[in-house]
Amino acid sequence: MAELRCVVAVDGPSGSGKSTVSRRLAQLLDARYLDTGAMYRAATWAVLQAGVDLADTDGIAKVVVDLELLITTDPAHPSISANGENVDGPIRGPEVTAAVSAVSAVPFVRQVMVARQRALIDESARIVVEGRDIGNIVAPDADLKVFLTASSAERARRRSTENATDHAATEADLARRDHLDSTRKVNPLQQAADAVVLDSTELGIDEVVSELHRLLTTRKAA
Ligand code: C5P
Repeated sequence: MAELRCVVAVDGPSGSGKSTVSRRLAQLLDARYLDTGAMYRAATWAVLQAGVDLADTDGIAKVVVDLELLITTDPAHPSISANGENVDGPIRGPEVTAAVSAVSAVPFVRQVMVARQRALIDESARIVVEGRDIGNIVAPDADLKVFLTASSAERARRRSTENATDHAATEADLARRDHLDSTRKVNPLQQAADAVVLDSTELGIDEVVSELHRLLTTRKAA
C-alpha cells in the first residue's frame, strides 16, 4: 500500500478520538497527518492576540489574510506556528478553545483555511486529515471517509482526563462547541453521505485504528 496515493478523511465532534486515531493511522500507513483543528485554533490565537472582537468579522478576516501559518505534517511531531511563534501550547488553552467556534464560523476564514489545507494535501502522497468538514468539503475525493463518534459522556470523560478539567464543565463546553460547529451556515460539522460511521464509545484506540486500516486495505484492493 505504501506506494499508492491515499487520502483518509476523519471527521467527528470534539473528543471522539479523531486526533489519536488519525495520528496512529498515519504512522501505520507511513503517511502524513494534518490536524485542521490546529489551524483554526492558531487563527483564533492570532485574532485574540490582535485584540479583535469576535463579532468583528472584517477584523477577523484582516488578521487571517495576513496570517503566516506553518504546520508540520509529521504524525510523530505535529506542531504549528503562527506569525513565526510556536503556538502548540496556547492553542489548547481555555481562551482559544472558548473562541475557536466563533472564528471558524466566519466564511472568509473557512475559505482561506480550506485552500491552505487542500494545498497541504496535494503536496503529500499519503495523508490522514482530521477535522469537521474534510469528507464533505476539503477532500471530497478521499479514499476513505470516516465519521468518528462517541457518546457525549464518554467524550467529556476523555477530554476532562486529558486536560485535568471538571467533567460537567467539559461536557457543557463540548456540547456548546458541537452545537456551534454543527449549526454554522458554512461547512458545518456533518457526516458525509459516503462516510463510514464508527462509534468509539466502547472501543479502544487500537481497535479503531485496526478497523480503519482494514477498511482502507479492503477498498484499495477492490
Ligand atoms: O479538532 P479541534 O477540537 O481542535 O477543533 C477546534 C475547532 O476548530 C472546532 O471546534 C471547530 O470550531 C473548528 N474546526 C472546524 N473545521 C475543521 C476543524 C476544526 O471548523 N475542519
